[in-house]
Amino acid sequence: MDRHPLPRPGVAGALLCRFVNQRQLYRMRAPASGREALAHAEPGAVYLDRETGEEMKPVAMVLPLAPSASALPRTPENLRICRRCEQLIGLDVSDCPYCSLRQEAL
Ligand SMILES: [Zn+2]
Repeated sequence: MDRHPLPRPGVAGALLCRFVNQRQLYRMRAPASGREALAHAEPGAVYLDRETGEEMKPVAMVLPLAPSASALPRTPENLRICRRCEQLIGLDVSDCPYCSLRQEAL
């Protein structure tokens, strides 16, 4: 087995942080129209629907929760297989988008 010198802890930490997504993605909804969008919302900021001009409110955090090694909403560790149609679906969905089967709680 090859032996490699261990990097100094400070250097390793700095390198790892570059690849960790620190920003939380939110599902935003405009209450009157029901229109939705995904955004990296910040506290105190106002988000407007570009079509209707309505103010959008955060209604859910999108997986993976920050901080995460990924910024993608659908990474393999956030998917499961529907037991009826065997399609890959998100962990955070309650009904399969392909066959509508109600998913078990996690
Ligand atoms: Zn299904």
